[in-house]
Amino acid sequence: MNENIFEKLKILADAAKYDVSCVSSGVDRKNNKIGSIGNASASGICHTWSADGRCISLLKILLTNDCIYDCMYCLNRVTNNVERATFTPEEVAELTIQFYRRNYIEGLFLSSAVNVSPNHTMENIYKTLLLLRTKYMFGGYIHVKIIPGADPEIIKKTGFLADRMSVNIELPTTESLQLLAPQKKTEKLLLPMNQIKTETQINSEERKKYKNVKKFVPGGQSTQVIIGATNDSDSTILNLSQSLYDKINMKRVFFSAYIPVISSPNLPALSTVPPLKREHRLYQADWLMRFYQFKSEELFTDTERNLDLEFDPKITWAFRNIDKFPIEVNKASYEDLLRIPGFGVLTVNRIIKERRGALLTYDSLKKMRTALNRAKYFITVNGKYYGGVGVEPEYIKNEIRQKELQEQLNLFQLL
Ligand code: SF4
Repeated sequence: MNENIFEKLKILADAAKYDVSCVSSGVDRKNNKIGSIGNASASGICHTWSADGRCISLLKILLTNDCIYDCMYCLNRVTNNVERATFTPEEVAELTIQFYRRNYIEGLFLSSAVNVSPNHTMENIYKTLLLLRTKYMFGGYIHVKIIPGADPEIIKKTGFLADRMSVNIELPTTESLQLLAPQKKTEKLLLPMNQIKTETQINSEERKKYKNVKKFVPGGQSTQVIIGATNDSDSTILNLSQSLYDKINMKRVFFSAYIPVISSPNLPALSTVPPLKREHRLYQADWLMRFYQFKSEELFTDTERNLDLEFDPKITWAFRNIDKFPIEVNKASYEDLLRIPGFGVLTVNRIIKERRGALLTYDSLKKMRTALNRAKYFITVNGKYYGGVGVEPEYIKNEIRQKELQEQLNLFQLL
């Protein structure tokens, strides 16, 4: 690899590490074209985890870090004194192919700062994908960032070459954007998201009518929200996520704990620890919204607008709604079973199937490998309660705390 490209790679791969929205979208696409290389498959997308737990695909880079914007939380902002680099589309395409041929990667995650103008940057992203898909016949997974403010026509053309697109919303309110990223406007961020949604719907209708219509962004769109750079509460963040899932058909909302790298009166102090536990709780709550039929507002009360850091959001909801428990596993609806702490979707499906044949007993639940250590406090089986003194939140909390403490002590004994 030529030295110049290697230097650029060092700068632009490092600059991309703050973007967490890069996990596989589960696209299955066979590449049947003769002479072309790479398949995108649900299980085959190469990604790894960095030391701080972030998901990074092996070729995760920025096209450029030479930004014209001045977002206060970002190392690449125009007023920051960092080393700058810009790839040409040909360089990114060649790098991807070289890495692919050496088996280092199976896909590309291409993000970018805003260089010269949104249109100029988006045009170069498009050219990179065009080279990869047509000159190099690359059929592997490609995830690209959309630059808000770019011409919808370039975004559309890019969407027919990419597997997934994302527009990073970064901050959850107009006020927060105004404070830390005044060049970004909520309406401008929402425009390309809405465009991707509309184009996807049109494409799906056309594909029903005509066989050979190419897929538009088959892996859907995702976005990222920074956690802890502003005072926005978890309820504000999850309400935003909920409305993106409901109204824009967003596939995933990623959360990124803010890592203080810049000193500013508008930002948390440099000594602030990144809120990783909070990020984890937000992912748990997001999971409940996507797979357990929870609505964001159910996870909060009028006075508690942040998720509990000690207990996960599902059990916290159960404590607040203790009058709904215990739930009888032999009679409860699918929706009610899903609300039981410790019961996952697979467990609930298994229970529904098994109880069609015979009444379930506590032993049969154990044989089905149901995780009962938490669930036992919230269920009855054939009318019998197995959780001790009764459905009492403080008692259950203490039981859980003691068990966790015991587990930690056992771990120490193993060391
Ligand atoms: S537009 Fe993106 S790269 Fe540029 S300063 Fe803002 S967050 Fe950083």
